[in-house]
Amino acid sequence: MFRRRRGTGRATGERAGPVTAQGPVSDALTLEGVGREYRRGVVALHPVDLAVPRGRFLAVMGPSGSGKSTLLQCAAGLDRPTAGTVRIGGTEVSSLSEAALTRLRRERVGFVFQAHALVPSLSVAENVALPLLLGGTAGTEGTERVRQGLADVGLGERGDAAPSELSGGQCQRVAVARALVTGPDIVFADEPTGSLDPAAARDVLALLRRAVDRDGHTVVMVTHDPVAAAWTDEALFLAGGRVVGRETRPDAAQVGRIMRSLGRVEGVECDGGHQRRGRDGGRAA
Ligand code: ADP
Repeated sequence: MFRRRRGTGRATGERAGPVTAQGPVSDALTLEGVGREYRRGVVALHPVDLAVPRGRFLAVMGPSGSGKSTLLQCAAGLDRPTAGTVRIGGTEVSSLSEAALTRLRRERVGFVFQAHALVPSLSVAENVALPLLLGGTAGTEGTERVRQGLADVGLGERGDAAPSELSGGQCQRVAVARALVTGPDIVFADEPTGSLDPAAARDVLALLRRAVDRDGHTVVMVTHDPVAAAWTDEALFLAGGRVVGRETRPDAAQVGRIMRSLGRVEGVECDGGHQRRGRDGGRAA
């Protein structure tokens, strides 16, 4: 559908050029010492430092229970971390009131979930328009953005259809259009291809890749799929609630090996893709 292109890790469109007269433009996402502890001392996420520059496509990977969802929820302002600060586009999320946080999530964050979560009683176009309507951007500008957004995901002719008339892959493409329509600082995608067949998954990944390369969007994607991770600029690996490794320009075979090793052993550490024995003696690979 789309030719694959590797990202530069930086925005390439008008959102590129991270230096202004006022100084450097903030990263799309910054986590400083972000941790999440539940009651009875369950530590879902040990303090994490992470900066995601604009125009980056990042995969978050790890075995079940490693803290991926917790990281995503804290980073997206859906959950309050018990330690540290989260900044989205330079705004410190942790200190916002509930109302301000809701507004930030609606206007500056896009979400794509495993199940597309379209509203069945609304048309495809109305679903894409929803974040704009909630954020007060309607009228001609809103209509044009929805039209362009649907055309971008190859569904320009299906705006009047109901979600039930579309395939699962098409619905997920609508969800991508909905996530991008506000021009958010960052898009969080939680297993966006988890329910799709390989061809439909490829279409969705190509759309996310293009959103980064062509339009300078920033995407953080939780996935357990090495093939999906290979579409990203960088993969971050979690185990036991800690970041235990990073791979730039990940390839599926290498990611698969790392995932298998993380599935076998907890408590490993790795650095720059070169895993090493953790403090507790666990062997990574
Ligand atoms: P992943 O997304 O990688 O499967 P999670 O972030 O869902 O992992 O969970 C990380 C850890 O935190 C797990 O050990 C899980 O059992 C625990 N956890 C998650 N949510 C809660 C909760 N609400 N209360 C207590 N423990 C939780």
